[in-house]
Amino acid sequence: MLKFKCKDVGFDCGFVAKGKTQDDIFAQCATHATKDHGMKPEDITDDLKGKIKANTHKSWF
Ligand SMILES: [Zn+2]
Repeated sequence: MLKFKCKDVGFDCGFVAKGKTQDDIFAQCATHATKDHGMKPEDITDDLKGKIKANTHKSWF
């Protein structure tokens, strides 16, 4: 299981994405960012994805 906390990339936000693969995490983050942060799909740049990946951690929970 992989886990990513939105606040780890600088948002004041309690969202946590959980998934089996990095693509699951990206997909959940994209949905979350557009729905809850008013971001557009084109705002999710490779730079942001790199930050998400760097802050995605393995979790047993
Ligand atoms: Zn968030």
